Amino acid sequence: MDKPIRNNPSGFLRVKCKGCRNEQIIFNKASTLVKCLVCDMILAEPTGGKAIIKGVVLGTFGFNR
Ligand SMILES: [Zn+2]
Repeated sequence: MDKPIRNNPSGFLRVKCKGCRNEQIIFNKASTLVKCLVCDMILAEPTGGKAIIKGVVLGTFGFNR
């Protein structure tokens, strides 16, 4: 089912929880639901490719261009 997609870099996102303002580092292709460690709010939903980020993205790093 997984088809390789070019130009689809993976890296990490610094995301702030909208519920409690906790900051967490999230992999942009997280394959499982990522929840805030503090308040359990969903921060990222897996899609099979890039995760859908539900929090506030503050920055990115680790991306290979
Ligand atoms: Zn939170």
